[in-house]
Amino acid sequence: MKWEESKEEIKEMGKKPKHSYRYDLVKRGGNSALMGAKKKIAARFNQLKSGHALIAKYLLRIGKRSNMHCWWCGHEYQTRDHLVKWCKRWKREQKRLWVDRQEGEEGYEGIEKVLKKPKISLPMSLIFAEEKCSQALMDSLSCTDVGRIN
Ligand SMILES: [Zn+2]
Repeated sequence: MKWEESKEEIKEMGKKPKHSYRYDLVKRGGNSALMGAKKKIAARFNQLKSGHALIAKYLLRIGKRSNMHCWWCGHEYQTRDHLVKWCKRWKREQKRLWVDRQEGEEGYEGIEKVLKKPKISLPMSLIFAEEKCSQALMDSLSCTDVGRIN
């Protein structure tokens, strides 16, 4: 392929929303920047699992914020439940995490299918404890800024 053509292709990649682009990178896997990123995602996973994460609920508890408002969508209560299930800012990623993931794709399915229950009846403590959900959750975290400051 000529440079001019591949340059166009790279430009096109840049135009894609950053989340899907990052997701594509995750799917291909293996590059070293990404391995480093994976550690950070694992750290975020563990923070969210313990509840000691950069989310408004925790920051309020430790006195770093004066309210629980979601800095992504403005909702009154930014809990991990809100961020992973309902936050408007991450709708597309949530759909993927809970519903859309198809059988065979990366070897796992949407969490609702895996656990055979709708997300509304699945507590986050269970989701984070359930190993079958870990990979999907980690992938979702890598595509969102859930558990991070804006
Ligand atoms: Zn929100």
